[in-house]
Amino acid sequence: MLDPIASTLARKSAGHGPLMLMYHSVTADGQPDWPWAVSLERFGQQLDLLSSLGYRTATMGDIASGRVSASDGPVAVITFDDGYEDNLLAVEALQRRAMTATWFIVSGAIGGEPDWPYDGRPAGRMMDAAALRDLRAAGIEMGSHTVSHCRLTQASDADLTRELADSKAVLEDVLGDEVSSFAYPYGDWDARCAGAVEAAGYRQACTTRTGWALRDGNPYTLRRLTVFNHDTASTLCRKLVLASNDGSLGALARYMVQQLRSRLA
Ligand SMILES: [Zn+2]
Repeated sequence: MLDPIASTLARKSAGHGPLMLMYHSVTADGQPDWPWAVSLERFGQQLDLLSSLGYRTATMGDIASGRVSASDGPVAVITFDDGYEDNLLAVEALQRRAMTATWFIVSGAIGGEPDWPYDGRPAGRMMDAAALRDLRAAGIEMGSHTVSHCRLTQASDADLTRELADSKAVLEDVLGDEVSSFAYPYGDWDARCAGAVEAAGYRQACTTRTGWALRDGNPYTLRRLTVFNHDTASTLCRKLVLASNDGSLGALARYMVQQLRSRLA
């Protein structure tokens, strides 16, 4: 059963602006081992929760440009990092619900095996160029996640520029369309990286810092929440209220005490 307090609060939380949710992998198996994977069943439950709370989905470009705002109700941006082939399951689940999303692709791994350090991710290839074109044709926004999935804060100025410019050029060539959104691999960024992203011609970028997406008022440091397989409808609902990765009952209780205190002060 859905947490009744959290669901009421989540419907009213649109005043804080849009939220972005981060996913990586969707598995047909119900119990994925990798913390960044969710089962297809759980993903569907999470999307249905968003619908039941009145959330519309939008792309990152939509919210950063103000084409879609939360003034008419809550808005969520579903994002997928890296571009695993299993993501095609997620695309079907989104399309059945007439939802959209933003995907961040590692341009050097299109149609191949991921070659950045192994961290327990599911075996399998990355989506190929034809799959990326199909996603774009389905109204999904395609963004860049560098050429090689490196840590940008540790890259030389030349490598930083190359990772940003080359991935943009390759993706634009594959898609025949402008690529204006970017996600920092590992959520690893600093002011130099954000400046380089802007200089490379992107219009917005997202981190893995939690909070309301537009909280910083800076299009190059948009915030996102991470969604895990263990996120039930109730924990995800509390995460939407709190704009936090901690969707526990304790976190909601602390938030409500804080709200009460500030109202009494
Ligand atoms: Zn990544």
